[in-house]
Amino acid sequence: MVSPVMPSAGVLSPLGLEAVRLTPGFWGDRVALNREVIISHCQEWMERVGWIGNFRGATPRRGREFSDSEIYKLLEAMAWSDHPALDELAETVARAQEEDGYLNTRWSGRRYTDFEWGHELYCYGHLIQAGVARLRAHGEDTLTEVVRRAADHVCARFMDTEETCGHPVVETALVELYRVTGTERYLEMARRFVERRGRPALGEIQFHPAYFQDDLPVRRARVFRGHAVRALYLACGAVDVAVETGDTELLQAVRAQWGRTVARRVHLTGGMGSHHSDEAFGEDFELPADRAYSETCAGIASIMLSHRLLLATGDARYADLAERTMYNVLATAVALDGRSFFYANPLQVRVPAEPREGVNHGAEGGLRSPWFDVSCCPNNIARTLASLPAYLAAADGDALRIHHYTPGEIRHDGLALRIETDYPWSGTVTAHVVEGRAGRISLRVPPWAEGATLTYGGVSHPAEPGYTTAEADWRPGDRVRLDLPVRPRWTFPDRRVDAVRGCAAVERGPLVYCAESAGDEPPLARVTAEPLAPVERHVDGAVELDVPACLTAPEDDAWPYRADRRATPGRQTSLRLVPYHRWGNRGPASMRVWLPLT
Ligand SMILES: [Zn+2]
Repeated sequence: MVSPVMPSAGVLSPLGLEAVRLTPGFWGDRVALNREVIISHCQEWMERVGWIGNFRGATPRRGREFSDSEIYKLLEAMAWSDHPALDELAETVARAQEEDGYLNTRWSGRRYTDFEWGHELYCYGHLIQAGVARLRAHGEDTLTEVVRRAADHVCARFMDTEETCGHPVVETALVELYRVTGTERYLEMARRFVERRGRPALGEIQFHPAYFQDDLPVRRARVFRGHAVRALYLACGAVDVAVETGDTELLQAVRAQWGRTVARRVHLTGGMGSHHSDEAFGEDFELPADRAYSETCAGIASIMLSHRLLLATGDARYADLAERTMYNVLATAVALDGRSFFYANPLQVRVPAEPREGVNHGAEGGLRSPWFDVSCCPNNIARTLASLPAYLAAADGDALRIHHYTPGEIRHDGLALRIETDYPWSGTVTAHVVEGRAGRISLRVPPWAEGATLTYGGVSHPAEPGYTTAEADWRPGDRVRLDLPVRPRWTFPDRRVDAVRGCAAVERGPLVYCAESAGDEPPLARVTAEPLAPVERHVDGAVELDVPACLTAPEDDAWPYRADRRATPGRQTSLRLVPYHRWGNRGPASMRVWLPLT
């Protein structure tokens, strides 16, 4: 089976990429864009900036200390889609590997001298994930030979030490390599890396040890903290180790951390991370819209973690967060033409960004960039979209569970369904039985979908949030229809989220909306909204919304603090809201998700 996560235990079993074929639709279009544009865009840029040349021994070496990992993430993306450029790139990587399996273009000759920042094990992690993809989608070849030698080198060098890497990811990668090869030392190495973290295992840095989750052992932590991508990749590895070793205490610890984090440290979009300086989670309820970091990679890591927890437990809450993050972080991070990307995904941009060419040396989220100095996000998007169909459905014994809705075909054990839907624009999802047998078909009802119905055999049933199940002896031509009410709704923040108190946001189905202002459109700093029913407008295959608003006329140069709470005078207007994932596709603009109320 071809799937990025294949646990040997758990409530749900994955369906492979071969079982889920997407056709044109919200995600099918993006998966096709990835295959046709994003993968070669990433390869061209990594040639241009010299990161691939590093493997050919080019001097001086180019890029940051972790740039090798970007080539590996792209190899993973190519492996899932059996991309024709894979072989040549894998040969280039193979030629740089040393006799004993060591492979790193930055630290060769000075190996393992900086565990805090060196990223050597981190790079192996992404290399191993590429090898897992290749083994599952294709079989043994040059790339998988490189990966086995590297993984054996890691086990030989680190099994009996107390060392680990400042950036987790090797843990989850080694468990998956164990799953595909059956080689138990890979699992044992992953288990030791998870357990030795926080004893502590790393030295002093300018940030608190929580930055790389070395402040506490994984099973003693209560919440995700520190650098968001590091925290979430580590949690993925901990779940994988827990599932394979039957360590229910460790699995429970990560579930509890996830629950506490989701209740206190996640933006409305599903984005994670509030601090720019250390790309870290904030304190509880520290969720500023304009300073939201919400790195694209943190969103991807959160989808990876939610998927693992969903497979382990079958709990719909994990699919709910994955959906929120897929539509509002993953889909936002890539431009509609697939040639530029967001690194940070803030929920407010006050001043339209200046357009510029070339590599972005920052991470700010005002305009998508074709490439970054630290370009972790584009290749992460590529590998995620390349394997995305594997995230959409799962098997629950002989039953089929569909978590996410997009047009395509899903097969499981003699049952084949053709999914027709215009989701997320419409809430109707129809599963047509193409090949039938007796059994259950479960469909996820998101928590916002109050009043949803499931119709089959000519009868409609109310469908509660969670999974709703249709059971029959299915015959070709039978249909199961799920109707999710996707009407627009106002969303108000918990009062403890200080930064957006007094504001509200609009959501419709799984989509978060935002106001976007470019050119001579009303300046967003002067607009307040009234939480009345938005009016829908169908534009370019998407749904935009108009909400009643007030355009205020504040005194520009007055001291902005006053002794009274009088309202600023203004006039009635209407504010256009666009899906957050579509913002910034018309050029520089200001934007806000949370709207101050009139
Ligand atoms: Zn990133």
